[in-house]
Amino acid sequence: MADLPTLTKNQSAVFSALKQADKPLGAYELLDRLRNTGLRAPPQIYRALDKLLELRLVHRIESINAFVACNHAPHVEPAGFIICDQCGRAVEVKILDCENHLTSSARSAGYRVDQVRVEMRGACAACRPPEGSGSGC
Ligand SMILES: [Zn+2]
Ligand SMILES: [Zn+2]
Repeated sequence: MADLPTLTKNQSAVFSALKQADKPLGAYELLDRLRNTGLRAPPQIYRALDKLLELRLVHRIESINAFVACNHAPHVEPAGFIICDQCGRAVEVKILDCENHLTSSARSAGYRVDQVRVEMRGACAACRPPEGSGSGC
């Protein structure tokens, strides 16, 4: 964490709210949590989020329109997410090999790929009914 960029007061307030959250937060949930810190207007939140996204300190999970702090920020590799449908917790997963596979399929279909988004839905270990562990990759 030594070489994290310097953040403004608003940016670091948003970033630490996301780090403390146990699940991805939408802009209005962030606003709720940050009301006491002087952040009152949605544009302040959005501006801070834009900068944090640009610095790759947070990720946007588009399918649920929410944001999470990155565990390995600043993040340069592509990241995917698995989101629990019951409690809303999300975990970042590596998708580098998967992305190469997807983009080469797209290219052989004649497309240029601008963005790859991998967002899986499911149930986390805490929400999943116990069963024989059938994890495999
Ligand atoms: Zn990340
Ligand atoms: Zn869960």
